[in-house]
Amino acid sequence: MLTGKRDVRPHRLGPMQAIDASMRTYQESETVDYCIVGVGSAGGVLLQRLARAGSRVVGLEAGPFWDTERDWVSDEKGAHELYWNDLRITGGTHPLALGANNSGKGVGGGSVHWAAFTPRFHPSDFHIYSEDGVGVDWPMSYWDLKPWYELLEREMPVAGPAWFPWGDAHGHPYGPHPLGGVGDILVRGCTKLGIRTVAGGPVAILSASHGNRPHCIYRGFCLQGCKVGAKASTLITHVPDAILHGAEIRELAMASRVSLGRNGRVDGVVYLDREGREHFQRARAVILCGYAIETPRLLFNSACPGHDRGLANSSGTLGKYLMAQAGNVIAGRFDELIRLYKAPPAHAMSEEFYETDPRRGFARGFAIQTVGPLPIAFAKQMVTAMRVWGWGLRRVMMDYNHWATIGVLGEILPWEDNCVELADEKDQYGLRVPKVTFNLHENDQKLIEFGKKKVMEVMWAAGAKQVVQESRFAHLVGAARMGSNPASSVVDKFGRTHDIPNLFICDGSILPTQGSANPGLTIQALAARTADYLVKQREFIFSTERRCLEEPPIRYDLSPPFTRFKGNPRSA
Ligand SMILES: Cc1cc2nc3c(=O)[nH]c(=O)nc-3n(C[C@H](O)[C@H](O)[C@H](O)COP(=O)(O)OP(=O)(O)OC[C@H]3O[C@@H](n4cnc5c(N)ncnc54)[C@H](O)[C@@H]3O)c2cc1C
Ligand code: SF4
Repeated sequence: MLTGKRDVRPHRLGPMQAIDASMRTYQESETVDYCIVGVGSAGGVLLQRLARAGSRVVGLEAGPFWDTERDWVSDEKGAHELYWNDLRITGGTHPLALGANNSGKGVGGGSVHWAAFTPRFHPSDFHIYSEDGVGVDWPMSYWDLKPWYELLEREMPVAGPAWFPWGDAHGHPYGPHPLGGVGDILVRGCTKLGIRTVAGGPVAILSASHGNRPHCIYRGFCLQGCKVGAKASTLITHVPDAILHGAEIRELAMASRVSLGRNGRVDGVVYLDREGREHFQRARAVILCGYAIETPRLLFNSACPGHDRGLANSSGTLGKYLMAQAGNVIAGRFDELIRLYKAPPAHAMSEEFYETDPRRGFARGFAIQTVGPLPIAFAKQMVTAMRVWGWGLRRVMMDYNHWATIGVLGEILPWEDNCVELADEKDQYGLRVPKVTFNLHENDQKLIEFGKKKVMEVMWAAGAKQVVQESRFAHLVGAARMGSNPASSVVDKFGRTHDIPNLFICDGSILPTQGSANPGLTIQALAARTADYLVKQREFIFSTERRCLEEPPIRYDLSPPFTRFKGNPRSA
């Protein structure tokens, strides 16, 4: 029941887009249908669909509800607030850099600062154990997810080549972007070595206007949020429609515990508001969409009698099998001007080395992609790659416009010892912070070494005068993986926890493996599929323990405006 309206500022989401309706509010004493924790990449899609289907939904978001006109600046340093900068402990043989390189904090989550590369996973990614004897198989196939891939490619929408030749070959709804300086280098170098490439995408950035959103103006601030509104984030693609259909988003609301009722079902979420006051939102079902670190952390922090190791952790696998992709950046200096900031960072790539090739001596593979660091990020990379500082660094930076950067995106396998746990330290909310341990194994190291050398060859072939590289990692997923066996996984193929029938997880943490495709499109496609499942199974989820694993019918009518029923004329 709608109990009141709160007058929120009209949210401006780019020069031509605004949410000009006030947001519904539910009282805490009311039991809503779904309480979603985290309104990021997955949470935004889920919130929108459930609201459109008529459910009463509240999204708790730890960060702010961005007003892009007021809050965002096209400035590299000024965008720091977009990231989850809270204390996290990192360790292992190859500690991951946490902070700006990970989740976002605020409505839209990581989709606000992502580069928006949107390749699909390959069919092989869903059964790498059967094919290559490594990792684990998914409890579903690529073909189960394909309809939702196509749906999200229209909803973002994705611009890219008419023919993407790898994996399940397909086209894209919007035409490709023009080639920037770095893309030109990637295509030139790869072509000289006989490596196939695609250019101009696939990327969730508008190459032509779409609804009330303008097309890209190639100013290169994609990782700073894109004030223009050309880059897709759930903040602008799904959240406005969610609000128009009655969803409530509570900003600056940090979930601290999922509450378990006496009947073995969850009954709501405890959260802290901006003043640190505790609240409780009652819900018939709870869905966690907090990212691969915060979701397991919240479940560990929700431990209670009978669930001493954390909620939904009877298997003992919660927090384990965390993955990051190898993200080595290869930088090449050219005599000609490159101007790597002058285009979306994501605009050309190759998946020629994606699949296992036994001759290489390791399983699985990697992608080659353009990256476009702005000066601060580039300077940090050069400090590591060239070991320069002071005058040496200044000299390199004076040449910024002559450097091109190309990334390796390599598949690191799921290992039990790569994990999220709780540290003893506490954060500003008084909650135990996550401790992330990351180790590279032999297969990962061989893959990274091969990928790094291959991209360096590409740089030389393109005519670079100097080539250096920085080792880094990108895109954390896993740590609450899906599977059909409750003894070795946390959720089933629709994100429903094996242990608690009305507790779901729907974010990157449920991925069993990660391929070498950027994960965002897959995460959002899975969220849309889970939403369709929830809509179909609604009454069973709220009232029984019955589990149905039938694929749900796809609900085209739940798409946001401008995207519904538009076919993809160039899809295979
Ligand atoms: C620099 C960068 C570039 C990237 N580029 C790409 C790319 O080109 N293509 C691609 O596919 N992927 C890219 N990614 C990765 C992509 O952004 C993430 O994989 C994706 O956003 C993860 O989605 P998610 O739903 O799991 O989490 P998120 O999108 O991070 O959402 C989680 C949300 O939950 C909130 N939250 C967490 N805990 C709580 C809590 N306890 N209470 C309330 N709220 C909470 C957070 O504030 C956040 O808003 C990039 C990432 C980075 C850092
Ligand atoms: S390059 Fe395009 S997508 Fe990126 S910030 Fe600029 S307008 Fe937005």
